[in-house]
This record gives sequence, structure tokens and C-alpha cells, in this order.
Amino acid sequence: MAKIAIDLKSGSIKKEDQLIVGIDLGTTNSLVAYIQNGEPVIVRDPEGQSGLVPSIIYFHPDHSVVVGHDARQHLIHDPGRTIFSVKRLMGKSYSDIASYEHHLGYEILNDDKDRLVKVRVGDRFYSPIDLSAHILRKLKSRIEEALSKPVEKAVITVPAYFNDAQRQATRDAGKLAGLDVLRIVNEPTAASLAYGLGLSPEEQKTIAVYDLGGGTFDISILRIEDGVFEVLATNGDTFLGGDDLDNAIVAFWTDKYGLKIANASDKQTLRLEAERAKKALSVSEYHTLDFNGQPLRISREEFEALLEPFVDRTILSCAAALKDAHLKPANIHEIIMVGGSTRIPLVKSRVSAFFGKQVHDELDPDEVVAAGAAIQADILAGNRKDLLLLDITPLSLGIETVGGLMDVIIPRNTKVPCGYARQYTTSVDGQKNLKISVYQGERDLVTNNRKLAEFILSDIPPMPAGIPKLEIRFQLNADGILQVFASELRSGTTQSIMVKPQYGIDEEEMGRMLLDSIRHAETDMVVKALTEAQNEGRMMVHSAGKFIQQNSNWLEEDQVGEIRRLTGLLNEAVDTGTKDEIQTSIEGLNAYTTPLAHRALEVHVAGAMRGQAIK
Ligand code: ADP
Ligand code: MG
Repeated sequence: MAKIAIDLKSGSIKKEDQLIVGIDLGTTNSLVAYIQNGEPVIVRDPEGQSGLVPSIIYFHPDHSVVVGHDARQHLIHDPGRTIFSVKRLMGKSYSDIASYEHHLGYEILNDDKDRLVKVRVGDRFYSPIDLSAHILRKLKSRIEEALSKPVEKAVITVPAYFNDAQRQATRDAGKLAGLDVLRIVNEPTAASLAYGLGLSPEEQKTIAVYDLGGGTFDISILRIEDGVFEVLATNGDTFLGGDDLDNAIVAFWTDKYGLKIANASDKQTLRLEAERAKKALSVSEYHTLDFNGQPLRISREEFEALLEPFVDRTILSCAAALKDAHLKPANIHEIIMVGGSTRIPLVKSRVSAFFGKQVHDELDPDEVVAAGAAIQADILAGNRKDLLLLDITPLSLGIETVGGLMDVIIPRNTKVPCGYARQYTTSVDGQKNLKISVYQGERDLVTNNRKLAEFILSDIPPMPAGIPKLEIRFQLNADGILQVFASELRSGTTQSIMVKPQYGIDEEEMGRMLLDSIRHAETDMVVKALTEAQNEGRMMVHSAGKFIQQNSNWLEEDQVGEIRRLTGLLNEAVDTGTKDEIQTSIEGLNAYTTPLAHRALEVHVAGAMRGQAIK
């Protein structure tokens, strides 16, 4: 295993003077920070006011993009082109988010419930990765302007409960934004580091991180031992945050003064006034304002009454997390407050009362995560001599999937030893053998990566496409030996192989591979998105054909004709079209066939009923 630092411009190995930035990619707000003279510095806007970049993206009709404060104002008059809360979509399929789609003012595609979601803006389709990359590009240019030098490496934070797909999506977004993402760090871990916890190897502590942001609440219980953070438990509520408090204040005023809200702009104005009042009440006893000639007032006491039920819910989550970790409040050594909403005095006092201890609120709760990410980045850069870097995999390891795409199973910079598994299925009916090609590298197409091994999983019992459950497991031991296991879980067929990923590759070569992946990130992603759309399109054509065959007894001639015509268009788009053209054709075919598919289901159910003997 190697601990290497690569100069991305020259491709040479560098040992010192590295700048790696820390990024808090938030649901509501994002920030970027770096270390100067050993201390974290938050990069602020050119006016030096705030470090927060609202995580909002606006697409002008001419396709130009703005991010942050400039995008936020478009929420009122052009919600369909103003994308917020992208973090909620990362690594999610449509069926994952269907229950809260109504919270979003923009269009989420609902073509295949099990695939990753896409957002439609006009005639373009964006993945959450594309969207997050826009936010990251904004942060990257903000710090590059502040420091007047290029920045290429970053540590990005994610919630402790993010799964592999969500973490991988965050990594990909970084890469697309031209950043080499050295590590994905848990937000509560970053917050702890910002408070200096976990920086000395002999420290042993249990920490609670209470994070109440704009739209989400998370409580994480962490254990630090030997300089390693372990997440003991997480709990929370993905729909509880400052936004709910703003809405509660709006409802309070509307009720108390019998306000008539005439239009969307009034509604938005009142919401912004409510947020202003909420923030003011964190320091003063009451707040007054004028709304369309009507004086409005709210006291801290009134606000606290509105707040109470929300805080109760967070305390219940804290209790649940402790229970999962088999701990009592008294076992917690430190409590850290994170997120803008923890500025509210009542929130602090209730949390402190629950744990029976003072909470940490010395640092700005908006900034702790980014500051901690910068500290983690500094550790990775090797600038903190007292801290040891754990052994990591220098390049990603994965396998080839349909269309020659690289599917990463162990991402680079993962601590070793480690083991990860992913499940796949077949794309052809009755497939008996599966070739598994193992690759190393950062590019999205395997042809640009390094092939390590290839073997065949044979004797898969014949099943229709999509039915076999194929699990590929990568096990990397402390000496860097990779063992790859392939199994078909339904039948228990298994095969394995051993590989030495680092064999025959030197640091220069690794440096070149990394450099190439950043240089080609944008074109690679375009090819990847096109290949994925083509794969999806081909599958749709295949299932449309099957559908006609299986339902020939009731489908009308002109219906069959229309499906054939739309399939023809899709086939053409797959062969010669762009990603967006393929996506449009998929949408067209879907829109036409969905009602027919419902009808088919009814016909089948009716048929099944008829078949039953009812006497
Ligand atoms: P996220 O982590 O979800 O991106 P943040 O940590 O940036 O969110 O928190 C944003 C929330 O904090 C908003 O709802 C904002 O109104 C709230 N907030 C910021 N300052 C204060 C304050 N002084 N008092 C109460 N709420 C605040
Ligand atoms: Mg946050």
C-alpha cells in the first residue's frame, strides 16, 4: 500500500506543501474551508460576509447556470428551473423519493422506479451528480479566487448514514467538478475534529453530535479510540429542520392576524420574514415587522411554544440513538452542536438537560463541519506530523459492466483491510456463464483503466434475464492482496480468484492514472451518461417487444403500431442520438405504454380469477 501525494499539474510525486480543501456539501447550505498556519479558515463571499453558499442551482432558459444566493431569488418566479435539496436525491431511485416528491418544486422523472433519479429542466435531464457538481464547481471557484491559485483536491463530508451508493455519487460529483476527492468523511466526525476531539491517539471518548440544519435533523453517537472514529448509532428525521420552524411562524401569523396571502410572491416574502424573525429571536425577546401595511409581532415565548414539539421529536431521536448504542446519557463525554438551527437557546438548553452536561457551542455551528473537513484534509496532506495516515488503497478497484463501464467496488483511499460486495444480474435470457473482468483505476470506461484479472463464473442455472442474483465480493487484505469472489446466490454457485493490484505499478504510473482521470472527468462522464442511457433504451426496446408478444390477444392493431413506431424512434435514438434525445424517446415510449401496462395487469388478474374454480 502506498501513501502518496501527487502534483496534479505535473503528475509528479510531491511530499509537501499540499493544499487540500474541506467541503461541507449541505442540503441547504454548502461551505469550503482550508488550513492556514494550522487553523481552519472558512472561505467567505467576496464581500467577506458569509461563508454559506445556498445549495441552489438555477438554469437559465439559455442553459447558463447560477449557483448560490443568485439562484435562490429564482425560487419565487421560476421554481421549475430552480433546483434545491439535491442532497436528498443523491444515490436515490424514484421509489426511494416518491413519498416526498411533492416537497420539490421541480420535475423528477418517474420512468423506472428502480433506477437512479433524474431531474428534468426544459428539454435537458440532469442527474443529482451533475447538479451537485455545479455546487462544487461554485465552491471550487470561490476558493480559487480567494487564494489566487488552482485547487484540485478535496475532502467532502456526508451524513454518517449515507450508504455506498450515496457516497459514490458524492465522489463522482467531486470528480465531475474537477476535484480529486481524497476522502469522503462523515459530518459528525468532521465536527468532532473541529473541536479537537480525536486528534490525539491515546484519547478514548464517546461523543454525541446533534445536527439541526435547514431541512434535516441527525443525531450521531461516535466512539473515538486509537485515533479512529466509529459510528455507534445514528438517528434523526429527514424532514425536520429550520424550514419547519419558518413555516410554523408563518402559520402563527396567518392565524393570529387573519392574513390573506394573495400570491406565491407574498407567500415567499412572509416565509423569508419568518426566518428573519426566528433568527432575531435567538438573541432578542421579541420581533416586529410590517407586512403589506399590517404590523406583525412575535415574542420569544410564543416562538418557543411553536418550537417545543419539534425539539421534543429531536430528543426522542437522541434517546433512540443512545438505546441503539446501548448507552445512557451519562456515558456521553462530549456533546457537539452543529447546524444553524442549534443557535436557538431553547434547543441548546433542552439538549444539555437531556444529556445532563454543557454542550459545545463555542464554534459557529454553520461552520464546524467544513472546518473539520479542512482539518481532515490537512491530516491527509501529511501536514500534521503527529498523526499517522492509515494504509489506504491508492486506486479504485472494480469490474466491467454492460457497455464497458467501470463499476467501482472498492473506492480509492479506502482504509485496508476491507471488504465490499455488490449485486448484479444478467442481461440475456438463459445466460450460463458470466465473465468477470477486474480493473483498477479512476476512469469511467474500463478501456482506460488497468486490467488486473479475468475469470468466468460458470454453471449458472438457466434463468430469464434479470432473475439471477450475482454477488461480486472484493476482499482486500492488509498486504494489499485482493481476493475476488463471484457467486450466484439463488443456486450457490461460487468462484474466486486472487490478484495483487499493486504488482508491476509504480508511483509515477499511479500519479499519471489519477491525473488522467481528473483531466478526462468531464468527457468520461458524458460517455458514461450516454452509455447508461443506451443501456436503458435497449432494455426498454427489449421489454416493449416482449410486451407486444405477451399481450397480443387484446392489444389493438393501432396500439401495436404505435408501440412499434415509438420503439423504432427509440432504437434510432440509441444508435445515433444524444443522451437527452434517448431520454426523450424513453419518456415518449413510457408515457404511451404505462396505461397499457396497467390494462395488461387487469387483464392478467381477470384471467387468473377466471381460471380459479369457484363453486
Ligand atoms: P444544512 O446543514 O441543512 O445545509 P444549515 O446548518 O446551514 O443547514 O442550517 C440552516 C438553517 O439554520 C436554516 O433553517 C436557518 O434559518 C437556520 N438558522 C441560521 N441561523 C439561525 C439562528 N440564529 N437562529 C435560528 N435558526 C437559524
Ligand atoms: Mg449541515
